[in-house]
Amino acid sequence: MPDRRAQTAGAVITRFAPSPTGPFQVGGVRSALFNYLYARQHKGKYILRCEDTDPVRSKKEYEDYFLEVFAWLGLEHDEYCRQSERGLLYGTYLNDLLSAGKAYISKEEPKKEGERAEVVRFKNPNKVVSFHDEILGDISVDTTDLGDFVIARDMQSPLYHFTVVVDDFEMGITHVIRGKEHVANTPRQILIQEAIGATRPIYAHLPLILSQDRKKLSKRDPNVTPALTYRDNGYLPEALLNFMALTGWNPGGEQEVFTKEELIKLFSLERVQRSDGIFNSEKLEWLNKEHIRRLSKEKLTAHIETHLPSGTKDLPGYSREMLSRIVPVIAERITHFGEVTLMANDGELDFYFKAPVYPKEKLFWKEDRDAVKLLNRLNVVADLIGRIHDAEFTQEQIKSAVWDYAETEGRGQVLWPMRYALSGKDRSPDPFQLAAILEKKETLERLKNAAAIIGKG
Ligand code: GLU
Repeated sequence: MPDRRAQTAGAVITRFAPSPTGPFQVGGVRSALFNYLYARQHKGKYILRCEDTDPVRSKKEYEDYFLEVFAWLGLEHDEYCRQSERGLLYGTYLNDLLSAGKAYISKEEPKKEGERAEVVRFKNPNKVVSFHDEILGDISVDTTDLGDFVIARDMQSPLYHFTVVVDDFEMGITHVIRGKEHVANTPRQILIQEAIGATRPIYAHLPLILSQDRKKLSKRDPNVTPALTYRDNGYLPEALLNFMALTGWNPGGEQEVFTKEELIKLFSLERVQRSDGIFNSEKLEWLNKEHIRRLSKEKLTAHIETHLPSGTKDLPGYSREMLSRIVPVIAERITHFGEVTLMANDGELDFYFKAPVYPKEKLFWKEDRDAVKLLNRLNVVADLIGRIHDAEFTQEQIKSAVWDYAETEGRGQVLWPMRYALSGKDRSPDPFQLAAILEKKETLERLKNAAAIIGKG
């Protein structure tokens, strides 16, 4: 049998081995990430292996799905393989085990009609298997209770424990970093390794990720979500990676926001916690906002534009230029970009791209129904604003132009109709910010329009 390990002695080789039996869940990202980080840190190799030996449950669409997840997250692999294409290799190893008497074909009494009468069983040496786990410490298990377990349904259909061991050996995997749910599989896999003469990799079994109520993530848990849902809801890949890294790994300092490059530098198996991690959605929101803050204006604008519904982009005043002016207002209010869609659908953005229409009563401040005074106030505000030079038409300048007047006349009496004239909304950013975004010409037009409505009586 070829020993590939000899060719790569010394180098770190990790792998992540998803089974394409459903849309890849967000919790699985962490194992992939840790394998990726560990390999990159050690200038080693990271292999992605599609474990599709189960012909009934494995689907191409789920393979495509996890490939899309890792492309989105930027967890590039150095090698890719599918177990379904490695049947010959597994057959060779199975034959060798059979001829060495380390496995045997077992005639079974079919439990149900149509069931197989033969399977391949591993001849269990019935011994205590001891191994060291980088996270969990030393583990010893008496394998006698496992009996002669099945390693293949037939010569063409090897099962998980067998294919994993053959592949890890053939690929020269040095570190098996995977979820703690696999720790119980390890003794079986070590027995198979010993039988085929494979070297034992270093094991690191990661703590579980629990839901916020501290239950193990189950299919019904809202946190167990297909990973691309996070992309579609406008989470940044860098935020999701950062979040996953902190769910189970302790960086050991004050810093919480990390880029992928920083994680590659800092990650260590020693700092992976033994206790289970919690999928803390608020933490993810917080991290996403922190990463949004770090985006360039250009990228931020592009993300926001992607999440705007077409109804907003079709408005007459819509332009990329206008959008880029409201980007800071939007960015301040969101933690993920999906909220942009909600804001737009609630009509909270329309007034930036089209003059608002509103009932004229809305322009009056509370019980103050004096139309003559209101008309005068709108005109004075328009006049004060009209004197600001175009080049100085900033939020601060607009505020200082109007502020004294608002103070003497009554803030609500002046600023409410001003804001309403600009937005047509009970709630919106303050009138100075709005005017600066709309710019001088549009601001004056909207104020004049409001005055005209009141003037009509
Ligand atoms: N294919 C296995 C799974 O999806 C992973 C096997 C392993 O990491 O050893 O759970």
